[in-house]
Amino acid sequence: MATGSETSISLVRTFTHATEGYRWHEVPVKEYPATGTVSQNVTKQVLFEPGEDLPAELRYFEVAPGGHSALERHQHVHAVLVLRGRGSVLVGDEVRQIREHDLIYTPPETWHQFYAAEDSPLGFLCLVNGNRDRPSRPAPEDIKELEKKPNLKGVIRY
Ligand code: MN
Repeated sequence: MATGSETSISLVRTFTHATEGYRWHEVPVKEYPATGTVSQNVTKQVLFEPGEDLPAELRYFEVAPGGHSALERHQHVHAVLVLRGRGSVLVGDEVRQIREHDLIYTPPETWHQFYAAEDSPLGFLCLVNGNRDRPSRPAPEDIKELEKKPNLKGVIRY
């Protein structure tokens, strides 16, 4: 991003808390499909794009009440900070309740999925490397393997 007084792009983007979700001035909201098995009722906003000086991307995801992110794994890692609401997360073979200000780290090649509570949205910042691999989805044998763990049975959605 350019710096100095010559720039015409503002370096500050104001937070605008709309009733339907957290928003930032001039940051477009990408709506994910409202129905489907991969993810449900999730919006994504890219707050900072990767650049030469900082090759990382900071995104804000918001999962509507009862919704969930995709069940996936990949080589790149996530550093997550919950900003809004509450819900739960699957990471590895652990399922935990999460709420505002909790931190979640997803290591390489580790299954993860975020779930909003039935009566609350779940909004979180997610930091990723700008240069990263594509997520992989679970194959039927992965689901079988995951559902062998008693704490994951009935939790994962795919
Ligand atoms: Mn992921």
